[in-house]
Amino acid sequence: MDTKRLIVFAGVITAIIIGMTFFSPQPQKKVGIPEAKTVVSVSTFSLYEVANAVAGDAIDVRTIVPLGSDAHMFSPNPTQVADISKSALFIYNGAGFETWAEGVKTTLSTTTGVIDMSQRVALQKSKEEDHAEHSAETPVVHGEHNHQEGYDAHYWLDIDNMIKMTQTIDAEFSKLLPSKAEQFHKNAAGYIGELQKLKTEFTTGLSECKNRTLVTNHNAFGYLARANKFENLSVIGLSSDEQPSAQVMAHIIEVVREHSVKTIFFEELINDNVAQTIAKETGAKAVPLQPLENISEDELKSHQTYLSLMRENLKKLREAMECR
Ligand SMILES: [Zn+2]
Repeated sequence: MDTKRLIVFAGVITAIIIGMTFFSPQPQKKVGIPEAKTVVSVSTFSLYEVANAVAGDAIDVRTIVPLGSDAHMFSPNPTQVADISKSALFIYNGAGFETWAEGVKTTLSTTTGVIDMSQRVALQKSKEEDHAEHSAETPVVHGEHNHQEGYDAHYWLDIDNMIKMTQTIDAEFSKLLPSKAEQFHKNAAGYIGELQKLKTEFTTGLSECKNRTLVTNHNAFGYLARANKFENLSVIGLSSDEQPSAQVMAHIIEVVREHSVKTIFFEELINDNVAQTIAKETGAKAVPLQPLENISEDELKSHQTYLSLMRENLKKLREAMECR
């Protein structure tokens, strides 16, 4: 073969190779289809908030209790139970807040990890009077909670517990996706910093107040009251669907007058008739306070968070308690 022929031959071979490379079937690249993310299901809003803060964009965090609904009254439908069973992790509040979770837990396979967050935080006992009041009522079939072993389940309103929840979720997510552990630690540290800032604002903002009697329609604020040394007086017990007796109403009205309480707080997601009645009777104002059991769709759309709503609560408390 002379040089000229060799060049032509080499050219033909090259063309064939290029052609083969060009037209041969390539391994299919997934374009526009993102890799399936690990899914974690949570029950309550505070867990949703913490889990999202720690996860960043590494985990798909889903809430089981729909936004805007009363978390006390919730019970999952079969689709929601199926969603939980497809999750890598199911985190629920515990301490009797979602009695349905105990049932769902038993149906899950070993591929879904389960965390009862109440086991990882500092719980406080519910007040004796709540039990007395509760036992006088007819048994509540649904929505009954918080009386399990006499603990108050609204523990996310203690900011120290929110910090513990963040640490727990950081550790659990890191176990679930070890390759993303650094990212989770960093996110958790950032969120804990925010919580610590919030805690300082509460401590300083509520240290010098004229009035320290907190009157609410639903006893969700025991942790907040204790952390800030308030006397907590609630019209109904720890479960949001209880109805106060005439004696309880009379007693609250008496206390409101006696302590010159100017504000009766109520929860937006539950019936506020009782708070309105007391306010009318005593000339006090009825003001909504967010127990953060859940948030509304509007609140979420307007980018409200645990932090921003707690700051709103603080503003209202400072005004009602006449704090300096
Ligand atoms: Zn509640």
